[in-house]
Amino acid sequence: MRDDLNTMGKQGQKILLARQKVLEILQTENACTEWYQSKDADPATTFRTLTFSLDHQGEAYVRKTNEPGEMDLIRSPYVASVMQGAGPYATVSINANGAFFYTMANVLKSPKDGGPLNFQGVRLLRVGPYAGGTLNAQVAALLHEFGHVIDLLPPDWDDYEGKSQQNTVEVLRFCRAEVESSKTQNPFLASR
Ligand SMILES: [Zn+2]
Repeated sequence: MRDDLNTMGKQGQKILLARQKVLEILQTENACTEWYQSKDADPATTFRTLTFSLDHQGEAYVRKTNEPGEMDLIRSPYVASVMQGAGPYATVSINANGAFFYTMANVLKSPKDGGPLNFQGVRLLRVGPYAGGTLNAQVAALLHEFGHVIDLLPPDWDDYEGKSQQNTVEVLRFCRAEVESSKTQNPFLASR
């Protein structure tokens, strides 16, 4: 796994760093670890078995649809995904074009009636309260996906962001202090 990430270049290094920080959190006794322990007695060991893959074909645009008389629906590119309840050795897919790596994305208006697509500026990408591309966003994203791996968070796919955002809020209710703590060690010096 480690070698895979090392061959994924700059993006792989970012995943490696975020993974290391999550392991540090889950190897410590804190409210976050305790929350995961309500489903998995040894969350750090389970998290360590996960594989990460980069989805280079992942959505890169914020999609906006608006129909006359309806509210605008805005959907940001997905951040990461994993099979619900997949358990140990699951593969977490990370969108190479989403908020894990980027602070903003172009907004693309796509009318349902098949009219012309048009660009409508840019929109900031976030994971919960954190700006896209930051370590806090990356750590929060991995903790969120891990919540799906062990079926601690309910499924949130195919949704206009509401449920997914709610799940991130839930993760941060327990993990915010650890996510925002800055005691990350150098991943290359940390114990393996
Ligand atoms: Zn989710």
